[in-house]
Amino acid sequence: MPEYAFAIFAIVAHAAGARVVSVPARDYGADLEALRAAVTERTRLVFLANPNNPTGTMVAAGPLREFVAGLPHHTLMVLDEAYCEYVRRPDYPDGVRWLQDFERLIVTRTFSKVYGLAGLRVGYAVSHAGLAEFLNRVRESFNVNSLALVGAQAALADREHLERTVALNDAGLAELTAQVRALGLDFIPSVGNFLTVDVGGPAAVVYEAMLRQGVIARPLAGYGMPHHLRITVGTPPQNARCIAALQQALGRVPGH
Ligand SMILES: *Cc1c(COP(=O)(O)O)cnc(C)c1O
Repeated sequence: MPEYAFAIFAIVAHAAGARVVSVPARDYGADLEALRAAVTERTRLVFLANPNNPTGTMVAAGPLREFVAGLPHHTLMVLDEAYCEYVRRPDYPDGVRWLQDFERLIVTRTFSKVYGLAGLRVGYAVSHAGLAEFLNRVRESFNVNSLALVGAQAALADREHLERTVALNDAGLAELTAQVRALGLDFIPSVGNFLTVDVGGPAAVVYEAMLRQGVIARPLAGYGMPHHLRITVGTPPQNARCIAALQQALGRVPGH
């Protein structure tokens, strides 16, 4: 998996007794050439979140397709598209459309993000039928409850809500990005529903100071990014309050 990959990947890999190989990122994003070079005859699975959490970076269709096509027979690929609905870039690939071509590709999606149903705990994997059959053998029985299924089905039918949410995110992400830039902070350009900001010093201090103002951001020291905070896009008043809290909190960072 790439460096800065979603933390759950390493946790589940360790739980399965696997050895995790983390491949250095390029500009915080996945370096597909380096990732390919790290695949050996012992590599059973590659994890890639597109876009990735917590960096908000994505890989484009052309290079990703080439990467998947170049994987050896013994290597599965999990392409995690938890944030796919937010992405507006024309070169963003829809992994589900590639499943006819790649028998070892698994695409995962969730109702926790754009649909706002995280508390229902429902998500899914899409893959070649042969691979799905293996997953079905080891999944817990009755792993999704009936209310979650009702919610998921209603969510899929509600195009209007989806479009409104994505439009709100587009505007909010642009606003947050502009405000963060105006504060003179570096950030990782994001295609998701959050912006990861370099606060120029220990982010734990900024996190604490924002928390005391009732605003929760995500410090990323656990990812090896001790100066970064991940800020999720909210409604316009929430974004404004978040920026005000951030500005106040920055006063506690030496050098600001
Ligand atoms: C949130 C998230 C998921 C899925 O979360 P669930 O709530 O468990 O469905 C998967 N991958 C990434 C990268 C995420 O950020």
